[in-house]
Amino acid sequence: MDESKNFIEDIIDGDLQSGKVKCVYTRFPPEPNGYLHIGHAKSLCINFGIKSKYGGKCNLRFDDTNPSKEDVEYVESIKSDIKWLGFSWDKLLFASDYFDVMFDCAVKLIKKGLAYVSDETAEEIRERRGTLYQAGVESPFRNRTVEENLKLFYEMRDGVYPDGAKVLRAKIDMASPNLNLRDPVIYRVLHATHHNTGDKWCIYPMYDFAHPIEDAYEGITHSICTLEFEDHRPLYDWVVRECEFPEPLPQQIEFARLNITNTIMSKRYLKKLVDDGKVMGWDDPRMPTLSGIRRRGYPAEALRDFCERIGVSKANSEVQASYLESCVRENLNRTADRVMAVFDPLKVVLSNYEGSEELSVENNGNAEVLTYRKVPFSKEIFIDRSDFALVPPPKYYRLKPDGYVRLKSAYIIHCDEVVTDEEGNVTELHCSIVPNSKSGEDASGIKVKGVIQWVDAATCVDVTVRKLQSLLTDVVDGVTDFNERFNENSMQIVSAKVEQSLLSANVEDRFQFMRVGYYVLDKDSRDGKLVFNEIVSLKDSFNQSK
Ligand code: ATP
Ligand code: MG
Repeated sequence: MDESKNFIEDIIDGDLQSGKVKCVYTRFPPEPNGYLHIGHAKSLCINFGIKSKYGGKCNLRFDDTNPSKEDVEYVESIKSDIKWLGFSWDKLLFASDYFDVMFDCAVKLIKKGLAYVSDETAEEIRERRGTLYQAGVESPFRNRTVEENLKLFYEMRDGVYPDGAKVLRAKIDMASPNLNLRDPVIYRVLHATHHNTGDKWCIYPMYDFAHPIEDAYEGITHSICTLEFEDHRPLYDWVVRECEFPEPLPQQIEFARLNITNTIMSKRYLKKLVDDGKVMGWDDPRMPTLSGIRRRGYPAEALRDFCERIGVSKANSEVQASYLESCVRENLNRTADRVMAVFDPLKVVLSNYEGSEELSVENNGNAEVLTYRKVPFSKEIFIDRSDFALVPPPKYYRLKPDGYVRLKSAYIIHCDEVVTDEEGNVTELHCSIVPNSKSGEDASGIKVKGVIQWVDAATCVDVTVRKLQSLLTDVVDGVTDFNERFNENSMQIVSAKVEQSLLSANVEDRFQFMRVGYYVLDKDSRDGKLVFNEIVSLKDSFNQSK
C-alpha cells in the first residue's frame, strides 16, 4: 500500500505525536437540502478515510440549523448514499439537537461581555462593516449592558420580536483585517417551523456560530471543510475558545473542493433540473448525485479509488470527467461479466446448421475464478450490421462476401450469399459453419483474425438501452451559465437484442456488452422488459497530459 500522506494526515500525525490529540475524531456535516453529489464523495472519503487509517471515529451530522430548506427525504437519501459508498458512521446526529447548547453558549458570551443584541437592519450592518481597506463602524448598540442584552436575548427567544427586528452579534473587533471578525451576527429572529424542533424556536444560530459548537460538543478533533471557509477559521477558533469548551479544541482544516469538467456541483442547480423535469429525478443516471452515479452503474469502489487518486490539495482545480470514467472502466474490466448484445441487427442464416445447442461461454476472463454460462445457438442468429462490409476496406477482418469470421465462443462462419432488397440494402446473410471450428476444440485449420459477437435469433431478448452523455455541453464562446449549457441530447433511447441469460439479471448488475461498452440493468426494468443504462464506453479517452 502506498504510505505517502496528504497534508491533512501530516497535521494529524503532528497532533498525535505532540500528544495534543489521543484519538482522531472527524465528522461529515451535510446540510439536508439536496442529494449528495460526487463532490461530497470526496469529503466523505477524506473524513471516513481518516477514521479508518487512524482507528478513529467519524460522525454523520446533519447540519440542519437553517429551518427553511430542509427535508426528511434528503436525510434518508444521504444516509443510504453514504452506506452505498461503503462507509459507516459512529454517531448519527442533528445539529438542531444542540439548539439548547448553542443558546447557552450565546448566553455565556453575553455574560462575558462578548455578545450584544443589536436593532440594526441587515443593510445597516452591512454598511457599517467596512471594507478590506477600511475599518468598520461600531454599532450604536455595541455598548448595551450585560443585563440589557440578556433581557433582550431572552425576549428574542420568547417571540417578542418579529423576523429581522433584532440580532445577536459577537463583540470582537470592528477594525479587524478579517471581515468575519467584525462583530458577526450569531443569532437571528426567524419565525419558522423546523423539521426537527417544530415551533420550539423562533431564533436560529448562524452557521459560523453553530458549526464550531457542534464540533466542540461532539469532541471532533479535526474539522475538515472546503477552502471557502479558510477566512472563517479565526471566528471558528474564537467561538470554541470563548465558549470555553474543554481541550483539545477542534481544529478546522480546509482543502480544495472537487470540480469536474462539465459536471454540476451545485445543489441549487441540480434541484432546479429535478423541479423543471429536465431529468427523471435526483437519481437520474446522468445526474452527478451519488444516487445518479449509482444508477448509472458506477461501482462505489471505483468512486473511492478515484477520490484516492486525485488526492487532497489546497489548490482549486478541475479534474477531467474522463479520469473518473477511466477509474470506472478499470474497475469494470476486472469485475463485469461479458455478455453479447447486438444494437443494429443483421440476420445471418446458417445454411448447414440444423437443430440447436447450448454453448459454454466464459463470463469474465479477468476474474480470479473463471465461471461459465450456457448460451443457446441455432440456425438463425443476429450479428451487428457494422461487422459486415459489402465493400470492405483494406485489412478488414470482420465479415465480408466470401470471407470468414469467428463468432465469439462459437464457430467460424463463411459468408456464402448476401441477400439485398430492391434498393440494394443488405437484408440477410447466408453463411455456412466451417466444420470442426468450434471454439476451444478448433481443428479446422482456418486462421481468422476477426471475432464478433452475435445473439441467437430464437431466444434473444429485445431491450431498451439509454445512451448517456454529460448534462452540460462544453463551454463555447465563454458561455458558462448552466441554464444555457443544458445538453438536450444527453439521453438517447435505442433498442438492442441481447442474449437470453440477461433475463435473470438483477437491477444494478453490470455487464460488458462485448466490443461495445459497459451497461447496467436499470430499476425501470419490469415484466421481462429490460432497460439498460450505458455506464462507459470500452475505449479510454482520458489523456494524462491533457
Ligand atoms: P452545495 O454548494 O452543493 O450546496 P455544500 O458545501 O453546501 O454544497 P454541504 O451539505 O454543506 O454542501 O456539504 C457537506 C460537506 O461536503 C461539507 O463539508 C462540504 O465542504 C463538502 N463538500 C461539498 N461540496 C464539495 C465538493 N465539491 N468537493 C469537496 N467537498 C465538498
Ligand atoms: Mg452548505
